[in-house]
Amino acid sequence: MQKNTTKNLPRIGILGAGPAGLMTALALEAYLPPHAGEITILDRNASETDYPGVEYGIQERACRALERIGKLEQALVRGNPCTEVAFFNSRLGKRFRSILPNPKYTRSVVRQEFLADLAGLLQHTSLKRRHLVTSLSEAEDRSVTLLGTAGKDAEPFEESFDLVVAADGIHSVARKALFLTETEIFDRGFSCIYMLVEGTDETAPNGFMDFANSGRSELIMGNYSTMTLFPLGNGRLAFGIGFDHATKAWLFQEHGLAPDAEWPKLSPEIKKAIAVRLTEDARIYEGMLVKALDLIPDWNSYKIYLWAMRDANPLQTPWSNKSNVIVIGDAAHAIMPTIGMGASLAIEDGEALAAGIATVVSRTKSREGFRREIPHHVFKPFTGARHTVWVNLIQRSRRAAIGNFIQVNKRKRFAIGPQIPNDTLSKLVMAAEWFIEKVGL
Ligand SMILES: Cc1cc2nc3c(=O)[nH]c(=O)nc-3n(C[C@H](O)[C@H](O)[C@H](O)COP(=O)(O)OP(=O)(O)OC[C@H]3O[C@@H](n4cnc5c(N)ncnc54)[C@H](O)[C@@H]3O)c2cc1C
Repeated sequence: MQKNTTKNLPRIGILGAGPAGLMTALALEAYLPPHAGEITILDRNASETDYPGVEYGIQERACRALERIGKLEQALVRGNPCTEVAFFNSRLGKRFRSILPNPKYTRSVVRQEFLADLAGLLQHTSLKRRHLVTSLSEAEDRSVTLLGTAGKDAEPFEESFDLVVAADGIHSVARKALFLTETEIFDRGFSCIYMLVEGTDETAPNGFMDFANSGRSELIMGNYSTMTLFPLGNGRLAFGIGFDHATKAWLFQEHGLAPDAEWPKLSPEIKKAIAVRLTEDARIYEGMLVKALDLIPDWNSYKIYLWAMRDANPLQTPWSNKSNVIVIGDAAHAIMPTIGMGASLAIEDGEALAAGIATVVSRTKSREGFRREIPHHVFKPFTGARHTVWVNLIQRSRRAAIGNFIQVNKRKRFAIGPQIPNDTLSKLVMAAEWFIEKVGL
C-alpha cells in the first residue's frame, strides 16, 4: 500500500492525463509560485497510445488558453496550422464557401503526440501512470482519497488530497460516484470510423502528399456518409467517416455481420472493406482517397477505430457538496466531435480552474484554510463562468450531428463550421441555423 507524504503544502490530485488533466497541471505550474503546492496526476494507462484517438482540432479557445500560460508554441510544436475548412456535397456535386480560420490559433494535432508534448512540458508535477482509480472517499475535513490499483501487478493504492480535479473522461468514475442521477450517456444515432493515414513520396497515391502537408481541411457530404479530412503534416492525413445507424446496419449486413458486431473483433480485411465502401461515397479526387487506404499497414492498430457517437448533458453543479472534488472536461460534459471542440473545451476548463485554484493558494496560509475556501472561491465562480459555454457548445454539436451526419442523403448544406471562437458568434450561428431550418433553405 502506498502512503502519502504530508508536507504543509496543499495537495492537488488530478485524475486523468487527457487534455483536461494535463492542462490543469500545466496551468497550475504557470500560475502558482514555484513549489507552492504538490500536484499529482494519476492515469490508468501506461502511455498515450493506450487510448484510441486520431486527431484533435485545437481551436482558438484552447490556443488562447495555452497562450495565457505561455505554452502555445511549445504545446503545439507538432501541430499543423489550419488555413481553410472547405465543404463539398458530392451528391449535389456542389462546393460551399470555405471558412478561413486564423492558422496561428487553429491547429490539427495527432492525439498521442499532443498529449506526450503536454506531459513533456510538466516541471513540478508527479505524473503517475498505470494508476487505475476505482473509487473515492470523502472526509469531513473536505479532503478526498482516491483508491485503486497500480502498476503491472495491480497493487492496491490510496492517495489523499486537499482537492481532486476529476478529468477522467466520458466514463468518469468520479461522475458515477458523486452524481448518481446524472450519469446517462446518450446514443446520438451514428458512428465514426477514424483513421490516421500515413504516406511518403514513394508510397502515396497522386495528390495525397500535397493534401496531407497542406493546411486545408475538408468536409465531404455523400449519399450515405460524411467524410472529414484533416491534414496533419509530415505526410499524414486524418480521415473521419460518419454514418448513421441505418447505414451501419446495411453496411455490416453486406459483410455478413450483425449491426452490433464489435469493431475490435472484426478481421482486418472486413475493416478495410467497410472503410473502402464508405470512402467511395466521397466521389472526389479521382479515387485518391480510396487508394490512400492501401497505405494503412495494420487495420488492428489504435490509429484505426470505430467510435459510436455519444454524449452527456453538462453537469449543473460539477462539484461535491461534501468534499473538494470537481469534475471537468468530458467527465463533466462529454461532447461529440461534430464541431471539433472536445479537446479544446477540456483545455479551456483546465486553465480556468487552475487560475481560480492559484488565487486561493496565494491567499491561504494552511492546508485547512485552502480546503475551506475551495467551494466558494473556486468551484462556484468556475461553474458560473463555464456552464453556459458547455451548454452552448453541446447544443451546437448536437445540431451539427443532425445536419451533417444523420440521414445525410436528405441534406443539402452543412450545419455549422467548426472554427467559431466565442460565445456571441456561436449564438449568431445558432440563430442563423434555426432560421435556415425553419424556412427550408
Ligand atoms: C474512444 C474515443 C475516441 C476519441 N477520438 C477522438 C478523436 O479522434 N478526435 C477528437 O477530436 N476527439 C476524440 N474523442 C473525444 C476527445 O477524446 C475528448 O473530447 C477529449 O479528449 C476530452 O478530454 P478529457 O481530458 O476531458 O478526457 P479524455 O481525453 O477522455 O482523458 C481522460 C483520461 O483519464 C484517464 N482515465 C479514465 N478513467 C480513469 C480511471 N478510472 N483511473 C485512472 N485514469 C483514468 C484516461 O486514461 C484518459 O487519459 C474521443 C473520445 C473517445 C471516448
